Amino acid sequence: MTTCKYEYNDEYVKYKCDKEALDGYDYCILHLELPDEFESEEFNKINEQKEMEIKKR
Ligand SMILES: [Zn+2]
Repeated sequence: MTTCKYEYNDEYVKYKCDKEALDGYDYCILHLELPDEFESEEFNKINEQKEMEIKKR
């Protein structure tokens, strides 16, 4: 399993994502940045998962 490589650092906040990265990517669903022109079944699937993940909070 790969862990998401997302890290955020500034004067006040230090944050390292510990979620599992998506297969074949360096980032988890929440931090994965998809290019605008990237439209496919996979994109839709990722978006659905992303929304589900956000609703869980
Ligand atoms: Zn992440």
